[in-house]
Amino acid sequence: MSALSAPSTINANATAPFAMAPSTSKASIGSPEWAARIHSLAKERDAVILAHNYQLPVIQDVGHHVGDSLALSRIAATAAESTIIFCGVHFMAETAKILSPEKRVLIPDANAGCSLADSLTADQLRAWKAENPGAVVVSYVNTTAAVKAETDICCTSSNAVEVVASIPADTPVLFGPDQFLGAHVRRVLKRDNIKVWGGECHVHAGINGAQLSAQAAANPDADLYIHPECGCATSALYLATSGAVPADRIKILSTGEMVTAAAASKSRKVLVATEVGMIHQLKRAAPGIDFRAVNDRASCGYMKMITADKLMASLVELRDEVHVAPEIADRARGAVQRMIAIGSAGGGE
Ligand code: SF4
Repeated sequence: MSALSAPSTINANATAPFAMAPSTSKASIGSPEWAARIHSLAKERDAVILAHNYQLPVIQDVGHHVGDSLALSRIAATAAESTIIFCGVHFMAETAKILSPEKRVLIPDANAGCSLADSLTADQLRAWKAENPGAVVVSYVNTTAAVKAETDICCTSSNAVEVVASIPADTPVLFGPDQFLGAHVRRVLKRDNIKVWGGECHVHAGINGAQLSAQAAANPDADLYIHPECGCATSALYLATSGAVPADRIKILSTGEMVTAAAASKSRKVLVATEVGMIHQLKRAAPGIDFRAVNDRASCGYMKMITADKLMASLVELRDEVHVAPEIADRARGAVQRMIAIGSAGGGE
């Protein structure tokens, strides 16, 4: 257990009050005293703490709200507080800033990036568009603000199929950056005018079909919850259609949908194919179910950069602030709002 600091008073206008930096508190991380100190600081800062499902359990437990990226952005946009502490990765905090430009958005570590968002830059997207005039650009929400500004409609893993289906069937589509989600959309819509960018998340790509098949065989009584970004999504659909695993045991779900499904499930065991942080939230939603990770090493190092110490420091020092240039934010906002308007955009990663 680590010891943490606790400033006795807070100057709401301070920007880097190192006198208040974490160093002196005896409250152990995760203890009720520590959580109370975090919440007290948040109140003094007029801040709401949002925690993504892939965060460390201690961060999930202390967050005012826990959820997927889109749900958290929606909460950020409607929250009464003037400051958002976004415990997630940078593109998520950017999306919150795009939807709430008047609010101060902080991320406890601005270096918390995303390999999927990094796999498509704005320059690459501009070049791709130039090669494909007339195509409609659909980007998964795991993209930078600059890429969203070049996008016609963003999508989540929940509504990717509906978003692409909303585009006239004879209009070509550029889908990026996630190749697995793009392949899923192309397969479901049986549409051959969708070009898919070859990007991937290193964590989800590391969950493969062989692991899934082996675990499905070893646990014949278990349901399978699979995120469509995972490298095993194709195998999951094959397992379902081949009859190797009954189709009703395989559920392709966004992270938000996993929590909803778990809460309503009568299953006793569920294999989960996504980042391992998700297990904590699923156990909270359904304590009676035995949840097991398909790959227990599928942990996102970027997400785990948000530590308890950094959260405390963010509250004390008001860092790291997320900025999005107004002209970028204005263009990106349209793509995000179109995403929210289409289908059940209830969950992102
Ligand atoms: S799990 Fe993958 S997609 Fe999600 S934040 Fe980490 S690197 Fe990005």
